Amino acid sequence: MLNLILLGPPGAGKGSQAKSLAARYGISQISTGDILRVAVRDKTPLGIKVRSFMDKGALVPDNLVVEIVAERLTMDDCKTGFILDGFPRNITQAEVVEKMLGGLGEKIDKVINIEVSHKEIVKRLSGRRVCRNCGEGYHIIFNPSIEDKICDKCKGEIYQRDDDKEDTIEDRLKVYEGQTSPLTDFYKKKGLLVAIGGVGGFKEITEKIVNAIESR
Ligand code: AMP
Repeated sequence: MLNLILLGPPGAGKGSQAKSLAARYGISQISTGDILRVAVRDKTPLGIKVRSFMDKGALVPDNLVVEIVAERLTMDDCKTGFILDGFPRNITQAEVVEKMLGGLGEKIDKVINIEVSHKEIVKRLSGRRVCRNCGEGYHIIFNPSIEDKICDKCKGEIYQRDDDKEDTIEDRLKVYEGQTSPLTDFYKKKGLLVAIGGVGGFKEITEKIVNAIESR
């Protein structure tokens, strides 16, 4: 059983690292951003409610994301553990998840904070592209697809998320700095936080995270 939270600004690499760690430890990745994007794409009732918040780079109301996470945590694939990626995003969500896990007789084992500078984030996010079909991530300079706008893995269409456009990036970073970054102190006080430098090769960063997890 291994229960982790990945913290860090948008574009820190939480999603890719979470996928790699989930595969390595046989645990589930719970990405609220991915779940919400699928709801928006499929125009579900949840998707219709959250779209305007996401397009602006604002946080979706707590009750909606909390409900998603509550449902996911009780699914069978979380029995061996989970990685929360993009949740919690504020202190209220952190307190709710703590209570929720307490009710299930569980707890968070470690919180990994991936640190990347503001300037680096803007560079990464403005060039980021995603496959509309399978969610594979690309970057126009650092990791382009072989064929223009076509996913190497599934041949789906590669697009730029609306919230990765330059104006929205600054708004998302403000939200992160104002609402999400206080979580680092919150988890530091609980003795759960480990800070990892998020600049460098992907595997190198994964290894730093793995060392932090395994030096429990
Ligand atoms: P992400 O892919 O994690 O960057 O999330 C994309 C967008 O989804 C965010 O900018 C928010 O609008 C919304 N979102 C994702 N996770 C949360 C959360 N835990 N709380 C509120 N909004 C969220």
